[in-house]
Amino acid sequence: MRRPRRPEDFRDYSVVENFSKREKDYNPSRGDDLALFFPSNYRVAASSLSFSWVRDLFSLYGVGVERFFYGESFRRFYSLESLRPIDEFRVIAFSYNFELDLLNIMDILKKLQIPLKWKERDEHHPLILVGGAMTYFNPSSVYPIADIIYRGDLETGIKDISDAVLLKVKREILDAMRMIPFVEIPRFEKRGKVAKFSDLNSLPPVGSVITPDGEFRNSFLIEIGRGCIRRCAFCMIGHLQKPARFLRTSVLDSVVKNIPRSVKIGLISATVTDYPWMDELLDLLEGRSFSVSSMRMDGLNLRLMRMLRESGQRSFTVAPEGGSQRVRDILKKDINEEHIERALILGRKAGFDSVKMYFIYGVSRESERDLAGISDITRVALKMGYRNVKLSLNPLIPKPGTPLVNDRMEDVKVLESKKKFLQGTLKIRGVKAHFESLKGSVVQYEIANATSEIAEEYVEIFNRFGKKSLKDFIYREHVNVKRGEKSGHIPFTTASRK
Ligand code: SF4
Repeated sequence: MRRPRRPEDFRDYSVVENFSKREKDYNPSRGDDLALFFPSNYRVAASSLSFSWVRDLFSLYGVGVERFFYGESFRRFYSLESLRPIDEFRVIAFSYNFELDLLNIMDILKKLQIPLKWKERDEHHPLILVGGAMTYFNPSSVYPIADIIYRGDLETGIKDISDAVLLKVKREILDAMRMIPFVEIPRFEKRGKVAKFSDLNSLPPVGSVITPDGEFRNSFLIEIGRGCIRRCAFCMIGHLQKPARFLRTSVLDSVVKNIPRSVKIGLISATVTDYPWMDELLDLLEGRSFSVSSMRMDGLNLRLMRMLRESGQRSFTVAPEGGSQRVRDILKKDINEEHIERALILGRKAGFDSVKMYFIYGVSRESERDLAGISDITRVALKMGYRNVKLSLNPLIPKPGTPLVNDRMEDVKVLESKKKFLQGTLKIRGVKAHFESLKGSVVQYEIANATSEIAEEYVEIFNRFGKKSLKDFIYREHVNVKRGEKSGHIPFTTASRK
């Protein structure tokens, strides 16, 4: 591919080239039918199995696909496969998985000088297709932007989508897409239902790109489960991706056999510990190096933990979520103190001296006692001999499709005071507490719950003032609305601690 001449373009080109050179691609695809765009940075994109899996699915049906990722400072975008500039593609497919990606999608289009609204684009502009986790529960936030929204598991509609993309003429593609039940087309006011993928076993989702960057460094990713058998009140997966489906061990066996022993395996599932055939899974992985995406505290077993430790993992991650049983019950986490203690003991027995724990705060009627439970759990871990305890503390963001949909997010002022309180209680040697940005969380909440009218307003603000101003606007509006309404929450006071 010809290198760009302008120094500022060359800088973007070199960044992509560097990441590309570090990748080992086992299923290289080329072609300009479709640009698959992950609107997040490379490390986030590369941590997702779908970064290569979606590409491979499309190429299975004859579509030439190349992958793109987002960089805040990028002015131009080049593909990882061939360093082809994005303006050579007629269809851009965004994988929209996190609320804040919406701001990046707008930024990408603006930098490409493509009108943000589908209403303002003509036949010379590329078609904007949007899919990904966000489209399962609320596609409204991309209504003003997307020409086409694909809802749900791509495997179900991949053949029809691919046939449509290959038609090449914009109008013909739109007409063909109109016939697909899982597709929404705002200009036709066509609604679509969420596609469910009934069986992982007929087409096992396996990644084909290995990279030293991202969460699963140098690993072959395999999705062993999709959806979740649980029903945690704050989590969309537990409510929207039912029934949970799992890769059978016989299928997994043939997948694992094809992976060189020298290469690490990354097992992906909403909760790996809910995999129904855990013993067989561990038999299959005996002597191999592997890591897992997430584990529940009530599902840990010593063999799994030992094997993870033997794989070179130095820390493990779990999510008690609530500092007290009351909060865990409100969140329907279905774990208790014994589960937490047992999980931490197992970790130590397996040889771990580092643990990372996720907690949620900002739950309705939460008291200081509830919050103080977070430092109590942390101290228990330290007492057991953990030398490093990392905590990730996130405000509760009520999301559509969950039982909390009608709850408002806790007032920012209250969240700030809770954060301060937590910071005070967590000043402990050996403990690192990371607090998710409150502003970012508020923006997430508002985008998750945005109607298409609100999204239209967001696009207009972005068009006129840019990304930072839109973020500021969303935050300000949220705070103003909260101030003007009566909060149903009991104010957070020190008196509530017993
Ligand atoms: S939080 Fe985890 S265990 Fe709970 S429903 Fe979501 S994915 Fe399942």
